[in-house]
Amino acid sequence: MTGILTLNGRRTCMNKCVFCPGQRWPNRVLTWSEAINDANTLISIGATEITIGGRDPGEWEKLPEIVEYLKNAGIQLIRIRTHGRTLKNLEFVQRLKDTGALITLDTPLYGSTEEIHNKITQSKSSSLGNAFQDTIQGIKNCVKVGLPISGYTGLTQGNKEDINNILNLYRALLSTGEEITIIDISSLVIKYPVKLLIQNWCLPTKDMGPYLREATHACDPKVILTIHEVPYCVYGSYTPLIYNENLCKPRKSIKGKKSSPAFIIANTPSDPSQQIPKFLKRAYFEECFNCNLRQQCMGLPVYELQLFGSSNLRAFRD
Ligand code: SF4
Repeated sequence: MTGILTLNGRRTCMNKCVFCPGQRWPNRVLTWSEAINDANTLISIGATEITIGGRDPGEWEKLPEIVEYLKNAGIQLIRIRTHGRTLKNLEFVQRLKDTGALITLDTPLYGSTEEIHNKITQSKSSSLGNAFQDTIQGIKNCVKVGLPISGYTGLTQGNKEDINNILNLYRALLSTGEEITIIDISSLVIKYPVKLLIQNWCLPTKDMGPYLREATHACDPKVILTIHEVPYCVYGSYTPLIYNENLCKPRKSIKGKKSSPAFIIANTPSDPSQQIPKFLKRAYFEECFNCNLRQQCMGLPVYELQLFGSSNLRAFRD
């Protein structure tokens, strides 16, 4: 069983990524007792793997201590989702390694160059430092001490043409001889109020197909590539590379705005007490009702259907 432990959620982050809603939240650093409480809750319900996320757990100086606590409590795998900037501190990376825990760091690159990555992370000003250089150094430090890194990127208008370069950069940074490199590509799920979707960074999921196909065709065979939560019709064919998290049966019908088709919420939680935030809701649209892959697919984000429609997408009917 896996669980998510949010360490600095709603808290601090040096980056100001264009797609991140957290920049609007007040900064607050989790206390040690709050972190232990959250950890104990996950441990008590039987978690064996824990993901430490939030904005940004790498910026919490007690991260190695909580990792050690989780390891001693029997957690077998700890994933840390961090922008990786604090990993430029080799001593901090060594402290993580010295915990002896089985750790994987999910560390994103949104561009293969300083210009692209720093534009998306909105960290170009000198007072914010240089996000690209920090993250690259952080990845190198992890490789140096032997901490595994999973690559991660999200597609936007600003990096869609750079996707192959990003994959190649990860491959160059992470490969040590014949080892496999793991890289995830995700559509950046819309997390802002709808009006902000039309900002120029946003690449609608429905338009990602050409970039995803190019990336998978050009990818080094020693890279394990996973595409998260993108419908098969966007990609243009069935592929086992697409991974749908939180897939569950549709339940509720809702009506789209004016010109949008009627659609069905695709990811209603099986436990009614668990609310899915509005921005994470996904829906099926007209084509889906005749699609052979519907049981394996979550459709599109509701916000995107309302704003951009699904006009270029076609169902699979054999
Ligand atoms: S179920 Fe809908 S979104 Fe998924 S592949 Fe089929 S048509 Fe596309």
